Amino acid sequence: MKKWWSVLAVFLLMMIFSAQAPQQEERPLFVPGEVVVKLRAPGVVALGPIGESVVSGVPGTDDQIFVVKDTTGKRDAMQLVESLKANPNVEYAEPNYLYYAFDTPNDPEFNRLWGMNNTGQTGGTADADIDAPEAWAVTKGDTSIIVGVIDTGVDYKHPDLAANMWTNPNEDAWADANDPKTGNGIDDDGNNYIDDWRGWDFANNDNDPFDDNNHGTHVAGTIGAAGNNAVGVVGVNWKVKIMPLKFLTGTGSGSLSAAIAAIAYANSFGVNLTNNSWGGRSRSQALEDAIRSAHQANSLFVAAAGNDGTDNDATANYPSNYDVPNVLAVAAIDHKGDRALWGSGGGTPGLCGCNGGGGGTNPLGSNFGATTVDLGAPGKDILSTTPNNTYSTFSGTSMATPHVSGIAALTLSKFPTLTDEQLKDKLMRSVDPSLSLQGKTVTGGILNAFKAVSN
Ligand code: CA
Ligand code: CA
Ligand code: CA
Repeated sequence: MKKWWSVLAVFLLMMIFSAQAPQQEERPLFVPGEVVVKLRAPGVVALGPIGESVVSGVPGTDDQIFVVKDTTGKRDAMQLVESLKANPNVEYAEPNYLYYAFDTPNDPEFNRLWGMNNTGQTGGTADADIDAPEAWAVTKGDTSIIVGVIDTGVDYKHPDLAANMWTNPNEDAWADANDPKTGNGIDDDGNNYIDDWRGWDFANNDNDPFDDNNHGTHVAGTIGAAGNNAVGVVGVNWKVKIMPLKFLTGTGSGSLSAAIAAIAYANSFGVNLTNNSWGGRSRSQALEDAIRSAHQANSLFVAAAGNDGTDNDATANYPSNYDVPNVLAVAAIDHKGDRALWGSGGGTPGLCGCNGGGGGTNPLGSNFGATTVDLGAPGKDILSTTPNNTYSTFSGTSMATPHVSGIAALTLSKFPTLTDEQLKDKLMRSVDPSLSLQGKTVTGGILNAFKAVSN
């Protein structure tokens, strides 16, 4: 009996330890006790006496660069650097620095995701991407960050999403985690939504935010498909919490009132940001007020610019055009880094301000706006999750927006104390200049994840 208890105690301690362990494993910056030295003249003899150490030449350096390794185990590399620098024969001495491969996940479809890491694999331009692998060397996301996906719902059963789905901590779990009818029938948290364990369906006013379209699940996958799980794709965040806020019906339309309720619900749970790959041409004070309340709740509101190929400065698109400090408006780029065009067929499921527009002088494509669209992100031929364990390739500013939401969440995982306005400002300063977006967006650039999570 005693033994059993001690095993349990050890197990519990391990649980606590792992819960408190830092998320990123600490990786050493240099090889312990090793220094790289360059001499002013060839020949190891010039080094003179340096105590107990092994000296070996670095091939191809004309007998001038050596690795000095301390054999006492007492001097660390920095001490050795200082003592070697004092030697007049030494041109420079520095730690034997370590470098690491950028993290690339084992998700089999990763190399099809040109928006994450563009090597020209789809015939586009290398590095016309968000530099995701470089960013993942800094952070892969954090399950404390909640992203509200205000959309057609999310397939919370999808094998590439299930691990990253939010659940309501104050509502009793459904008896069957995949069956919304198995709740206890009680509004446990008293928020007037009964059994809202996985979010809410504001379109049909029930507790099942499952995606009966495709759009919301695709958006969710770009933000946070589980990374390195040997399945399918990877999101900008390997780890995150996605809250499904379904307000668009299966055919892809949603009401203002449902949108407002969804935003208020997100605010009540303190979501860090919402992804809004939807819109229209109608200006609504109520919607603007709801977004302002999200700002008061410190929640970034990332919004698609629309798919008509038109200028939002001239013809407004909402919600991306609302002049509220937390609104970040997103244009789409293609795999060459150019503003995305999609001909007369329109973007894939056209949910965001897609009012046709084929008769104008602009070909259909990403909307733009020198003062009303902030930045660009990958949004053409984007592969992501779709319901019932499928994957699909869609195009549109709807697909660009979750790249930005994903980077916003990734940035918060690194800098959790940023306010929504500070986060927006940081993202606005983290773009790569793009000729096709200059004069057509506020920043003139494509959002870069590595820049956003660095400094
Ligand atoms: Ca409830
Ligand atoms: Ca309940
Ligand atoms: Ca995956």
